[in-house]
Formats: sequence, structure tokens, C-alpha cells
Amino acid sequence: ETGRKLFLGPVDFLKGVVAMSGLPPADRLEVCFAGRSNVGKSSLINALTGRKGLARASNTPGRTQEINYFTVGDERYIVDLPGYGYANAPVAVVEKWQNLLKQYLSGRQTLRRVFVLIDARHGAKKVDEEIMTLLDRSAVTFQVVMTKVDKIGQKQLNESLEATREALSRHPAAFPEIVLTSSDKGDGIATLRAIISTID
Ligand code: GDP
Repeated sequence: ETGRKLFLGPVDFLKGVVAMSGLPPADRLEVCFAGRSNVGKSSLINALTGRKGLARASNTPGRTQEINYFTVGDERYIVDLPGYGYANAPVAVVEKWQNLLKQYLSGRQTLRRVFVLIDARHGAKKVDEEIMTLLDRSAVTFQVVMTKVDKIGQKQLNESLEATREALSRHPAAFPEIVLTSSDKGDGIATLRAIISTID
């Protein structure tokens, strides 16, 4: 754990964004969290920031889809994308959201990395692959973070890792190293904090 940061710095909610015009000024680097609904994204952001309830699990289908901005001191932004993969969200809502997502990913100069969260038990699903393809096309580096590793044994984890590495080999924008995390047990949290604080 030598050299790994114990804290990210003070993290605060800044704003929810529903259109490109609402983005805060691109005056610092940002990293972004994406993943299917229920993957454990809110839990992970709360564990990283040490603030329970900062990121709410509020991915109700049909709800306004917001890009949530958090400040990390005055150095960085953490960006929380709404969970994807709701089959029964209204088409108009999905389309509006996809448009905003595409504009954001391709147009945000200060976006350095997207963490794509994948449930260690389930591996990469079709919607995850779709996001990865969009990231390839937008030339935004992404890194897979496996969540809930406490829920499976070593053998299943190895299988899941192997399948995910195989999937990543087809994505030019993928960062090769996969981060294994458990928000419940604390695995990988310090590692992820260190990655967030050192990205430049
Ligand atoms: P989100 O929809 O992606 O924001 O997911 P949440 O953070 O709300 O988590 C979804 C469910 O998974 C909740 O019941 C969490 O308690 C559970 N969960 C999240 N992270 C972990 C983890 O690391 N380990 C275990 N065992 N459960 C987790």
C-alpha cells in the first residue's frame, strides 16, 4: 500500500447536468463512472469518497437522466453517469440520454478516463460492450472495474477475468489493467483512489 492515498480529498456534489450547456467549465481533469443499473456504482463512489449517501441509487426508469458532477478538492471532477440497461425505459428518454452521452464523451476535452463497472459475477453484457464501442469511437480511454468481488470465489473470479480480458482485447480504447473491488469489504478502493488522484 506504499504511496497509496488514503483519501481523495474533500468530495462534494456540484450539480446534475441534463444538457451540454449545463456542463461546468472544463477547467480541471475529470474521471467518469459508468455501469449497468445495480452494478454497485453508488456504493463504489460512496466507498471511494468515504461519504455514505453522496451518490444515491436513484436510477429509476424514466426518471430524468442526469450526469452528476462531484468536485474533488479544486483539482478534479468525478462524474457519475446514470446506470444503463433498463429495458423498459421510454424510447424518447433513452434516445435523449444517448444523444447527451455521445456529445459528452466526444466533446469533453478534460475527460481522462471512464471507469466501466462490471459485476464480477456476471461479466460484460451486451450493453457494456455497446458502451465500450462508443468509448472506442469517442477515443476515450476506459478501464474496467469489477464490482462485488466478495460475492464470488477465486475460481469464478478467474473465469470472469479471463472472459473480460478477452472482451477487452477487441476494444482499442481499453486500459489493460482491470481493478477488482468490493465496496463492502474494501478491496481495491485504495488502488482506485490512487488511480483517480494520479491520472493526468
Ligand atoms: P447502482 O445501481 O449501480 O448504484 O448500485 P448500488 O450501489 O445501489 O448497489 C446495488 C446493490 O448491490 C445494493 O444492494 C448493494 O448493497 C449491493 N452491493 C454494492 N456493492 C457491493 C459489494 O461490493 N459487495 C456486495 N456484496 N454487495 C454490493
